[in-house]
Amino acid sequence: QSDQIQLNLKHSFAEQLSDMAAFITPAKLPNPEWLVTSPEVAELLELPDSVFTDSQYLDWFSGNATLSNAKPLAQKYTGHQFGHYNPDLGDGRGLLLGELQTSSGHWDIHVKGAGQTPFSRFGDGRAVLRSSVREFLASEALFYLGIPTSRALGVFKTSEAIQRETTEQGAVLIRICQSHIRFGHFEYAFYQNNTELLETLVEYTHSHVLQLATDVHLTIQDKTLAMYKAVIRSTAELVAKWQAFGFCHGVMNTDNMSILSITFDFGPYGFLDEFDSKHICNHSDHSGRYAFDEQPGVALWNLNALGHALSPLLTKDQLSECLSQFEPTLVKAYSALMRQKLGLTQNDKGDQVLLGEWLTLLQQDKRDYTNSWRLLSNFDGNDDVFIDHFIDREAASKWLAKYKRRLLIEKDDTQTRLQKMRAVNPKYILRNYLAQQAIKTAEAGDNSELERLFEVLKMPFDEQPEFEQYAQTPPDWSKDLSISCSS
Ligand code: AMP
Ligand code: MG
Ligand code: MG
Repeated sequence: QSDQIQLNLKHSFAEQLSDMAAFITPAKLPNPEWLVTSPEVAELLELPDSVFTDSQYLDWFSGNATLSNAKPLAQKYTGHQFGHYNPDLGDGRGLLLGELQTSSGHWDIHVKGAGQTPFSRFGDGRAVLRSSVREFLASEALFYLGIPTSRALGVFKTSEAIQRETTEQGAVLIRICQSHIRFGHFEYAFYQNNTELLETLVEYTHSHVLQLATDVHLTIQDKTLAMYKAVIRSTAELVAKWQAFGFCHGVMNTDNMSILSITFDFGPYGFLDEFDSKHICNHSDHSGRYAFDEQPGVALWNLNALGHALSPLLTKDQLSECLSQFEPTLVKAYSALMRQKLGLTQNDKGDQVLLGEWLTLLQQDKRDYTNSWRLLSNFDGNDDVFIDHFIDREAASKWLAKYKRRLLIEKDDTQTRLQKMRAVNPKYILRNYLAQQAIKTAEAGDNSELERLFEVLKMPFDEQPEFEQYAQTPPDWSKDLSISCSS
């Protein structure tokens, strides 16, 4: 029993939603050792500087010590996986270690890979270094791009050997977000026919998680409606950002959809390299259900599944009225982002077509999505530099001529416009091959590449001349890197 760490822990989930909690004693994971840490997240959590050096913290995160005021628990939820309802889900290898109260609000400290729980089914409750590092890097990279996401305090490895397709090294991710409530929690209550639990969950999400305005006159129906509207709006805005930045989630099952509309549960995700609107990043996704350009439609499908779970509390008309707001919200958000990326502040009726033709050019010419936008953000009138980037020079110069004509009605001077564009068109993204390089060296015992990559990703919009190579397109060796659900 180590009681020297003093943390202000709250137990809102344990107290209000105990029907969805399994209280457990975390497994003791052997020989924990930090692989990568985020001091910025430690600061957000108001943890002391010693959090990564004082072994008491690592002992707590790895189950080797308990805190007398903590009530670790695994959450029960269900959900639709690849379109099919699965009642057998829940935290199978994750634990809510505690809810930390800080001046910026309450934060869930969740350890992923912490051992078996009543919801592990046939799983070992473990996570491997590869998937833990991938989630760490992606969630932090998205944060620095300005995309809502869960965050990560760090990853530590253990001395356990984990059996997957091959034997891999065990590791744990410490995931941080304001709540772990998923669409799947609502589906659990609904499919249990437990309307009382559903109401409790709505009440908790409305007031505690989303902190929506409330007063004594609001009925549970009012709160459900307000909550559903808020989730639809923010989910549409989230997916608009994924589409604009070329992020492909890979497993948009309803249990991986956060009620906070943050990017959540990272598995076989991918940032686009070559632009292909039909890109499938998850090799286990044979039908392309979660392909890049399917994401908006899938988000709507998932919101519809959430609506179905809320149907005891909302009328059919209310549900469809709410859902009808999804598409216009997404289109509006997406178009605003794409206009910024193109450097357009004025309105012209041809703008939509101009954007469409740009994306078609990238798709047909198989150009790198991120680097092409960045090239455009550096276009100061030198046609050759721009056109040299393309294979189909004729198509490129034709589009460029149109774009130059369009820029004539812009009011900013060129340098101001380019500067604004570079603030929304990143130079550095987390490419799969970069993650893979960092993972390989970390598996061999050297964390320096992982640390370097993490530093580069903290300033995605800045020129970092000494790290120019991190903006390079994938090398040949990485062309058939296969990222599947296995983690
Ligand atoms: P995911 O594909 O990560 O969204 O996980 C789907 C479900 O499988 C969740 O209920 C997880 O908790 C569970 N799960 C995934 N990997 C493991 C594992 N190694 N051991 C136990 N449960 C797991
Ligand atoms: Mg999941
Ligand atoms: Mg997962």
